[in-house]
Amino acid sequence: MQRLQAFKFELSPDGQQERQMRRFAGSCRFVFNKALALQKERYEQGEKKLGYAGLCKRLTEWRNSPDTGWLSGAPVHPLQQTLKDLERAYANFFLKRADFPRFKKKGQADSFRYPDPKQIKLEQANSRLFLPKLGWLRYRNSRDVLGTVKNVTVSQSCGKWYVSVQTEREVEQPLPNGGAVGIDMGVARFATLSDGTFYAPLNSFKRHQTALRRAQQAMSRKTKFSNNWKKARAKVQKIHSRIGNARRDYLHKTSTTISQNHAMVCIEDLQVRNMSRSAAGSSEQPGKQVRAKSGLNKAILDQGWAEFRRQLDYKLAWNGGHLIAVPPRNTSRTCPCCGHVSSANRQTQARFECVECGFEENADVVGAINVLRAGHARLACEVNGAVMPSAAGTHRSDSGAAQCPRLSAAGISGLQAGEDVKTLLVKAWRGKRT
Ligand SMILES: [Zn+2]
Repeated sequence: MQRLQAFKFELSPDGQQERQMRRFAGSCRFVFNKALALQKERYEQGEKKLGYAGLCKRLTEWRNSPDTGWLSGAPVHPLQQTLKDLERAYANFFLKRADFPRFKKKGQADSFRYPDPKQIKLEQANSRLFLPKLGWLRYRNSRDVLGTVKNVTVSQSCGKWYVSVQTEREVEQPLPNGGAVGIDMGVARFATLSDGTFYAPLNSFKRHQTALRRAQQAMSRKTKFSNNWKKARAKVQKIHSRIGNARRDYLHKTSTTISQNHAMVCIEDLQVRNMSRSAAGSSEQPGKQVRAKSGLNKAILDQGWAEFRRQLDYKLAWNGGHLIAVPPRNTSRTCPCCGHVSSANRQTQARFECVECGFEENADVVGAINVLRAGHARLACEVNGAVMPSAAGTHRSDSGAAQCPRLSAAGISGLQAGEDVKTLLVKAWRGKRT
């Protein structure tokens, strides 16, 4: 089995190298914006969009023209890579996976990539790395890089520079440990497993909220673009990056533990992107329950559900396991004991009590059990009919489930007004699909 993996380190550049890196990142941003402006202009004039080869031709012209000749000071491969990024941004837009490509701003995700491994040298024993036009760069060697280097990305965040080394290597297909488990994602508890264990919410954002608000207020009192404003802005950015680090750390630890101990993980196929879309809605279609939803959106984004799912997906694949996404139908209101479906089963947010048979359990655990059941049903359908999708694949949404006779037999229709978060989630999910 082939494994692609990235290894990220902090760089320790000297002054000259830092200036160069800033310059290269700026050149890439300039090329991206110029190419995007060109494509927009061509579109407005009714001309065809330029392909990658056409853009590369233009890049050569820009590098040779006296106005933008400074571009030739930057390495050419990263500049071309930027054009590829733009192509991909357009492709994602046409496939409705992303919004229309936007112009890049200085200081937002400054980065550039060297796509050609032949130009990169990595000396791990000496903790240094050679990159074209930058020379030998020292890095904080915190772990071994495994596999052959495919490409290298240099990026800046909060005044620090990082290098991400993408590698490829052949690993033996491992045998997964443990059995199957269902996960219920929530706001009160980040994740609840069907065996009863749960992970507390991180709410990294909430914890730093006060500090962030103060820093933002301090920044707003400064004259824009003054030196004091820049200092205040650096403080705000630092808090943002701390929040990001805490969240990433938590998500990685949780997803690693779960994927190492289970062969099959079932998760609700919640479309986080749609759920977290603006609650206010548009002027033609004003949103419902705006306040409740915007609070929920914040919680969802804060906890990084989509990122958690992505991590579970690839880590399970690495460990030989499978991630199975099931549509979130009535998972919070079906009794796992007798199968009775009713919103009356869920009297409070935390407690589940079946009105038919009297089964009592924590509501999140019930949700997780139902998710696991749906996952088993889904698996049975796939084994009988369609091909089993690879664990690392991203296209495993609802299409299979919709045709699955078992699931639609078990799927219970008719959701009414929701009083709890889960119902709200399910409604948001369904609303997007119809
Ligand atoms: Zn029951």
